[in-house]
Amino acid sequence: MAAARSLAQFQKQFSDEASCVAFMFKRRWPEGFVCPACGKRRFAGLTSRPRLYECLDCGRQTSITAGTAMHRSKLPLTVWFWAAHLMSTHSNGMLALQLQDQLGVTYKTAWLLAQKLRRSMLNPDREPLEGVVEIDQTEIPFREVDAVFESGNAGKMIIIGAVEVIERDSNKSKPRRKHAKYLDTRSGRIRLAMIADNSAASIEAFIHANVKPGTTLLTDGHKSFTGLQGYRHDPRVVGKMAAHIVLPWIHRAFSLMKRWSLGTYHGLRRKHADTYLNEFVFRYNRRYYRHVSFETLLGLVADRTPTSYWDLIKRDNPRKGAG
Ligand SMILES: [Zn+2]
Repeated sequence: MAAARSLAQFQKQFSDEASCVAFMFKRRWPEGFVCPACGKRRFAGLTSRPRLYECLDCGRQTSITAGTAMHRSKLPLTVWFWAAHLMSTHSNGMLALQLQDQLGVTYKTAWLLAQKLRRSMLNPDREPLEGVVEIDQTEIPFREVDAVFESGNAGKMIIIGAVEVIERDSNKSKPRRKHAKYLDTRSGRIRLAMIADNSAASIEAFIHANVKPGTTLLTDGHKSFTGLQGYRHDPRVVGKMAAHIVLPWIHRAFSLMKRWSLGTYHGLRRKHADTYLNEFVFRYNRRYYRHVSFETLLGLVADRTPTSYWDLIKRDNPRKGAG
């Protein structure tokens, strides 16, 4: 296993724009430049604009940052790289304030960077959960903007979660079972989302978006699950047995998530809750192979649509006019 690099080592490796561009070039074109328009290989780098490459056959200019989190950003690539490194190696995630301190950028810039990198944690083409999946809901407190967080008077939001139950040793998605009990399991991938209420409609929408049809669903037998079509339903709550005993893996994920949201963010803000939940899911699902995440954060792994400032703060761009 590669040893974790310190920020100082990382900054030395990516000390300037050119070293970041060279890294991205290799990542994008491991066999050498290929024009996305005509497929030819002869190119010229533009000295005035080091992120652009021009095809010598068709003239198409290709930006090295196209399809990444960094596209159209005016920030130096070094700042992006360092921020992604900090976020991927810091076990609790990196708060904007810490990014600001360590990178020497303004708070607003640091906040936007952190939000954009968190967006990359949502992989758009990720595979749905399958096999045997525990599903349950929990409530967590949230805080309003700028309000001091006090758990006593905070509002509550409902979080629904699903986790794959897999066989501990073989990592198979269908663990062996003896009668009703699955043997030697551990948790696989999870999904979390905020839902408006515990209605069948809200719960089914989450399941359809995150779990493959045909999957066996282990639930607490809540009535909202009973009408669900296309899945095998295996209700687990017998009498008064506590949910954390019959659905151990989703409850372990919930308690980690709660501890993390209080410890790292002093309570989630409702408006950004989904983004933070995505960050938690991203870390959880990669807990055995963290080293991939720095590149994933930068969007160097999968294509993604760049997010604008106005999407991030969830307001309409006033310059775009009404509608
Ligand atoms: Zn071309």
